[in-house]
Order: sequence, then C-alpha cells, then structure tokens
Amino acid sequence: MEKSSSQREQAFDSIRRNYEEICAQIEQAASSAGRSAEDIHFLGATKTVEPELINYAISLGLREIGENRVQELLAKYEEYDLSRADLQFIGKLQTNKVRQIIGKVSLIQSVDSVKLAQEISRISLREGLTTRILIEVNIGREENKSGVLPEMLEDLIGEISAMPAISIKGLMSVPPICDTKQAISKYFDDMYKIFIDISDKKFDNVSMDLLSMGMSDDYREAILSGANMIRVGSRLFGARIYR
Ligand SMILES: *Cc1c(COP(=O)(O)O)cnc(C)c1O
Repeated sequence: MEKSSSQREQAFDSIRRNYEEICAQIEQAASSAGRSAEDIHFLGATKTVEPELINYAISLGLREIGENRVQELLAKYEEYDLSRADLQFIGKLQTNKVRQIIGKVSLIQSVDSVKLAQEISRISLREGLTTRILIEVNIGREENKSGVLPEMLEDLIGEISAMPAISIKGLMSVPPICDTKQAISKYFDDMYKIFIDISDKKFDNVSMDLLSMGMSDDYREAILSGANMIRVGSRLFGARIYR
C-alpha cells in the first residue's frame, strides 16, 4: 500500500524519536556499566520494515542492520543504503540458501552447526572471501530453538575454527521470554560468563569481539550484563506488520 506523504512524515518522526531515545538509553546503560557507548553496536532488526524507513534510520546514524529471511533480504537488497551501513544476517539460515547471501552480508550471526559452517566455508572459499560469523547459543536450553547448547559450544568452535574462509567473531543469543528483568538478566549473565570463558581459551583463528544479545524489551539489561551488540526492531521501527 502506498503511503501518503503525511503518513510517511509520521513514520519518519516516530523513528527519529525512537532512535534518539534508544541512543540515550544505550549511553546510560553503558555508563552505568562503566563502558563507553561507542563500544556498543546498535543493530536495527529490519524484518518486515520497508527500505525507505530503514534508509531513514541509516540517515540518522544507524550503522548496522540485520535481516532474518534470505528471501526478504534479496528482495530489499538493491534498495538498502549500504554506502553508510552494514548488512548482516540474524535469522535461521538453511544450508541450501547460504550461497544466496555470501558476499552480501558482513556478518552471519546465527551459526549453530558444523554443517552450516561447512557450507559457509565452502562457498566463501569458492568466492575468494572470508565470511565473519557469530555462534548462536541456546542459553535457555529451549527445545525447537536455534543455537548450540552451552556444553557443546567449545567443540563446535574447535571444529569451525579449523575451516578455511570463515572467521568466528563472537557469540549471539536469544534468551527465552521472561516475566522479570532479573530472570532475563540471569541468562545474559550466563552468556557473558561463557563469552569470557571462550575468550580466555584463546582458540586459533577465533576472536571474541562481539557478544550480540538484547532486543527491544531488554537491551539495557543486556548491556549491563556485558553485551556489546544489541539488536533492536520494534522499539525502533514500531510494531511489525506481517503481510
Ligand atoms: C526480530 C529480531 C530481533 C528484534 O526483535 P524486537 O523485539 O523487535 O527488538 C532481534 N534479534 C533477532 C534474531 C530477531 O529475529
């Protein structure tokens, strides 16, 4: 549906207000945690969001965006303003779709199996690229949820780090939905411990630069627990409309 110009202005206004509020809160949370806001990556989760609105957020200063679905990413690909922002993949990735996004995204955040990593490695090698990835951890041990179980993480990192043309840059997690801030913070704290533990082990070819956790409802708690990348969708762009 075409938006009237006043609808567009309203959408822009609300994105601008949201963007400024989120930046202020990142600032506050970082400072409470004794860190600098510049060290926190603020990624906009852009599923269902029109490129025009995404590009508006980029014009405000958003430097990282993430899509969840390969098909949607490809449909929007030509329209993103990637001269100023970095496109990443944050959703569940099927092995047979890997080849469609290699070279288009700067980071794949959701790698949780040897099989998926092998395909990323194989295609990247063929294209003469190195693909940066995060390993997704199923910190809540939820059934039917993506991510490797914490006790399997070290073995998975060991195997993937030996593959060519793929480079592990950190960890990502989507904890279970929780009723309280304390409950979600416990998962974030557990993730941070794992992140530090893996960093200390100094695997070859692995740099634990990024800990990606925290979304619209809990990015402050995530930063307080040690996240240095948050992924914010609805709090920035408004409630999602699935077509
Ligand atoms: C949609 C999504 C987000 C953002 O969710 P909001 O609650 O809208 O902020 C973050 N991470 C992943 C992996 C997502 O799929």
